[in-house]
This record gives sequence, structure tokens and C-alpha cells, in this order.
Amino acid sequence: YRSKARGRGTFTVFTPDMVESHKRKLSIANSIDQAITNNEFQLYYQPKIARDGRIIGLEALIRWLHPEFGMVMPGEFIPIAEQGGKISAITQWVIEQVCIELPMLQEKIAQRFRVSINLSGHDLRHGGLFDAIHSLFTRHRTNPEYIEFEVTESAYLENFALSNKFFRRVSNMGCAIALDDFGTGYSSLSYLTQISIDTLKIDRQFIRELETSERSRLVTGTIIDLAKRLSLTICAEGIENHRQWEYLLEHGCDHVQGFLFSKPIPLSQFHSLPMRFERLREAANA
Ligand code: C2E
Ligand code: MG
Ligand code: MG
Ligand code: MG
Repeated sequence: YRSKARGRGTFTVFTPDMVESHKRKLSIANSIDQAITNNEFQLYYQPKIARDGRIIGLEALIRWLHPEFGMVMPGEFIPIAEQGGKISAITQWVIEQVCIELPMLQEKIAQRFRVSINLSGHDLRHGGLFDAIHSLFTRHRTNPEYIEFEVTESAYLENFALSNKFFRRVSNMGCAIALDDFGTGYSSLSYLTQISIDTLKIDRQFIRELETSERSRLVTGTIIDLAKRLSLTICAEGIENHRQWEYLLEHGCDHVQGFLFSKPIPLSQFHSLPMRFERLREAANA
């Protein structure tokens, strides 16, 4: 359990915990192919709520019901899939699954909404994603106007030229584009005038700190203003209480998403979603 990795005279001792976690990582990396063939992935959906309390969108979030490890979260296996070159297979699975489930989702939620699909930076680096999307939409008769793609600021900017080209094509087809986790990655904002997006999603970190940090309130308010001035839709993620929702509504935020409204749920649990989420002013003032 020893290595000389850090150079002369120093030893890194691998504890049993580290060995266990390394084994788990390997095992996850090696079972991704199987996961697709054995149908072990599942989509959960988290609603996005408009100012009037109605559902305006659903974000598809992948889960893995692993035969050995139980429910494995994307925060753990997506980076492993990216490193192992398996992400595009997962992305295609997600897109196809959304195409398949969309008619059922539409049946359960009467009004118009979009389903958002998360893309990874690796998806953008390899050509071919646009053609894959196009042929999946054709095969499943999916109207692109019901689909949004989310990409993080850093993934978009890593391959700026490629991303721009890709998102322009996707946008021309009728899909919407959202910049995810906004505010955490880059200090330069000049790129915002050059990219093809519809929505900014304020990172959860700012929302979490709304009640305790004046700076987070300032940054959140400023991001909302910025989005408005650029004619972009603004969505806040990670809303857990009414005070946060009230603050965001007062400052003009368009859409909100968070455990206050609903955790991500599979299609089979959609019957438990309310038709409309109500503001509780009393709770907000408490
Ligand atoms: P994300 O796209 O920023 O998704 C938001 C994450 O925040 C989700 O975690 C969601 O469950 C969680 N969340 C939502 N509301 C709240 C809240 O009020 N409080 C707290 N504490 N958390 C909240 P999840 O599902 O574990 O996904 C984590 C990340 O994994 C996602 O971040 C996204 O980057 C990635 N991911 C998820 N599904 C996919 C996928 O299908 N493809 C790719 N490439 N990445 C995915
Ligand atoms: Mg997202
Ligand atoms: Mg996000
Ligand atoms: Mg995030």
C-alpha cells in the first residue's frame, strides 16, 4: 500500500479507504458499457417554476441503479465516464430517453414546457453530436422546440469556436440553450456578447448564501440585471426556502428550481407534483 509518488524521502500511504474508493472507481469505469445494455440508467426530472408558480420546464438528471452499489449519482460517475471516453454514449442514451419519455411527460403536465438535457464539455469536443441529435429527433419525431441543452460556462468556453458553431446549429433547429452554473467559472464577461444562448442559470452557491452574505445578494442581483440587459432568461437553481424565492421574485428572476418545489423525480412519481406552486408570503416574512 505504498508508493514513492511524491519524490525522494516522502511516501504516500494508501489507507484501506483509499484502496476501496479506487476499486469502486475502477469498477464503475468498467461497468458503464453494461449499464447501457442492461438499462441501469434512469432519468429523474426536476421542475423549473415560472414567476406565477407554474411548471415551465423539467431538467433531466441521470441516475444509475448499479447492481452492486445501488443508486450512483452523476457527480460521481460522469467525471469517470468523461475520463474513460464513455460520455458520448451516455449523452446519446440521455437524449434518446428524453425523446422516448417526452410524450408521456407532456401527458402528465398539461402546459407547454421544455425538457433540459445536460451536456458535458467532452460532448462538444467531438464532432458528430449535432448529427446524432438530429437523427434521434427525426427517429422519435421529437419537436426540437420542446428541448433545451444546458452546458456549463467552463465547458462552453473550453472550446469556444466549436461550442459556438454547435450551439448555433442546435439553436437554429429550435432548441433553447442555457449556460449552467453561471458565475463560478470566469471573470471575463466579454464572451457573453458573442455566444448563442437563451438562458443564464445562476449557480446554487449564490442562492445558498443569499440569507447570510450581502455579497451573494449583490452578485445575484447583478447577474439578474445583466441577464435582463442582454435579453436573456434568468433561472436560479438550488432554492430551498420561501425567503430565497421571495428575494429572487423581487429582483426579477424569471425561473427557479430547487428542493423547495421538488427534488428530481422519475416519471412514475409525477402524479405527486402540484399543478401550481404557491407563494407563502407569511413564511417569507418570518
Ligand atoms: P446541474 O446540472 O447543475 O444540476 C443541478 C444539481 O443540483 C442536481 O444534482 C440537482 O439534484 C441538485 N439540486 C437541485 N435543486 C437543489 C436544491 O434545492 N438543493 C440542493 N442541495 N441540490 C439541488 P444531480 O442530479 O446530482 O446532478 C449533479 C450534476 O451532474 C449536474 O449539475 C450536472 O452537471 C451533472 N449531470 C446530471 N445529469 C447529467 C446528464 O444526463 N449528463 C451530463 N453530462 N451531466 C449530468
Ligand atoms: Mg444543469
Ligand atoms: Mg447547475
Ligand atoms: Mg451545478
